[in-house]
Amino acid sequence: MKKKKLIINIITIFPEMIKSISKFGIIRKSLKSKMLKINCWNPRNFSSKKNNSIDDKPYGGGPGMIMSAIPLYKTIKKIKLLNNYKKDIITIYLTPQGKKINKKNILRILKFNKIILLCGRYEGIDERLIIKEVDKEISIGDYVLNGGELPAMILIECIIRFIPGILKNKCIEEESFFNGLLDYPNYTKPKKFKGMKVPKVLLSGNHKNIKIWKLKESFKTTLLKRPDLLKKIKNYKKTKYFKKI
Ligand code: SAM
Repeated sequence: MKKKKLIINIITIFPEMIKSISKFGIIRKSLKSKMLKINCWNPRNFSSKKNNSIDDKPYGGGPGMIMSAIPLYKTIKKIKLLNNYKKDIITIYLTPQGKKINKKNILRILKFNKIILLCGRYEGIDERLIIKEVDKEISIGDYVLNGGELPAMILIECIIRFIPGILKNKCIEEESFFNGLLDYPNYTKPKKFKGMKVPKVLLSGNHKNIKIWKLKESFKTTLLKRPDLLKKIKNYKKTKYFKKI
């Protein structure tokens, strides 16, 4: 895979929350290396109401407030106009009603070099804005948070790991879920901790045996912790690495 530059535009009424992730770890490194750019856009700046409010009561009654379509629409138009975005852009709404984040979704999103992430607040966003402007809805799980900022940060972390050149390929490939299995157990110094030793094979220097051990342990861990994942692997019981515990 060739290197790419990813520009993520986040629409949020709490840009300070997003900015915090720029200071740490791989995101900081990616920003520094210019492989990633994160811009925050506050829809309050596009409100024509007093106090720059961007929410209103729901039609038909009901609890809470709804984010209005107009300031969000203006924000999206501004992002696209300023950056001359016509193609190669995807607008994603973080919502509990969306498709759950997984490798397949992430790779699809990564086909685009420019991303707009829309963070909802209150009871959500006026449906007409979603119909008009949103290309994809993404959820981080079957629970409801107060806002889309944390889900957006989670999505960014997930995406960033798959940008060619940011992590070593091996790092991603050996992580849980990449090949449908969970990761194998990991060990580091010291060789003995509270009476427990590091498995001998890992100290042997025999790379072939280590590879086989890792695969067997991956199957074992998956069987113990997430047997549902194994069902998705065709004929997994026939692989020489699978051994029922
Ligand atoms: N009324 C909405 C519903 O029941 O589907 C939930 C609104 S929630 C209180 C406010 C915002 O938080 C949503 O618009 C969304 O942006 C974000 N949010 C909450 N839970 C989420 C999740 N599991 N995944 C992604 N975004 C979520």
